[in-house]
Amino acid sequence: MKVLPADKIREALNILAGEAEVYAPLVRGDVSGYIKWTDGPGDELALDILNTYMPPKHIVMPQTENMYKFIATGKDAQVTEIVTAEGPRIIFGIRGCDLQALHALDLAFLTRGYEDEFYKARRQDLAVIARACYQPGPACFCESMGVDRLNPEADVVIHVLGEQGLAWEPKTPKGKDITAKLQGILVDKEVALPQAADMKVKVDITGLSEKLAGMFEHPVWDELSSRCMNCGVCTYVCPTCYCFDIQVHNRGEAGNRFRCWDSCMYKEYTQMAGGHNPREFKKERFRQRFLHKLQYFNERYGANLCIGCGRCIIMCPNEVNILEIINKLKEVQVDA
Ligand code: SF4
Ligand code: SF4
Repeated sequence: MKVLPADKIREALNILAGEAEVYAPLVRGDVSGYIKWTDGPGDELALDILNTYMPPKHIVMPQTENMYKFIATGKDAQVTEIVTAEGPRIIFGIRGCDLQALHALDLAFLTRGYEDEFYKARRQDLAVIARACYQPGPACFCESMGVDRLNPEADVVIHVLGEQGLAWEPKTPKGKDITAKLQGILVDKEVALPQAADMKVKVDITGLSEKLAGMFEHPVWDELSSRCMNCGVCTYVCPTCYCFDIQVHNRGEAGNRFRCWDSCMYKEYTQMAGGHNPREFKKERFRQRFLHKLQYFNERYGANLCIGCGRCIIMCPNEVNILEIINKLKEVQVDA
């Protein structure tokens, strides 16, 4: 098997960064995330971190992005679309859970007769070097959500071998091209892959989507939502949440339209111009989040919009736990 020695990992990233934008799990100050690799002095490569604080969704869906710029003079308006062609990009070290989240975003932004050209421009030339995950954490439940954590569907799969470096397995033609760029530093070596630890957390979601279809008005939503304070943290750290808002910024005659991350947990997200709000109360917004993840997305795309990364469990200030919610939803009676 090919192996990238531990002392050559930075060199490999620098070689790849010479031809593509490379995003790697880095710790920068108090925050970890998939950050553009520049080999900066303060950047600590965080391959051992379980799930970065911020998910990688910003790589295909930036927190803020310009869509159009315009100049309006009297009744005339000139509009210029801004679609950023990103060129080659690589995500390095992503885990199977976050990769499956990326595939869920692909379903939302690129299928069913609609292609979001802003998303597509960032996604189409993106290669993925994913790491097999042998040590899931106490809040991880990815396998229950259908994630293949040991053999993620990527261009290259890497296996972290500690001091020996990374076992390196190209899986696609794109992965073989990337591998060819590292020929000078990859070595052929017999290595034993790590032993995979069992997932400690499991949840059975069989039939849940179908059950939820009859639970829109169920009183359990009052109880489940009582602890939530609609802060929105769970949606920002979630790798699959993709609510956005479109806003205008202008100064004088010139301006631009941009979109930015938003959250279904906020009242303003569904506030209409006439004042009506179909999700005026906390319970309605809370219910929307869970029905979207566990029912609506499944009905439309045949996939869950939760990949079991556990970030929302770790980050919620009021200990709202999606596993407890799933178990409660499974347990309650639904009138026929
Ligand atoms: S992080 Fe917790 S309290 Fe905040 S919106 Fe999400 S579930 Fe509610
Ligand atoms: S809902 Fe929670 S566990 Fe599921 S993908 Fe989002 S952050 Fe991860």
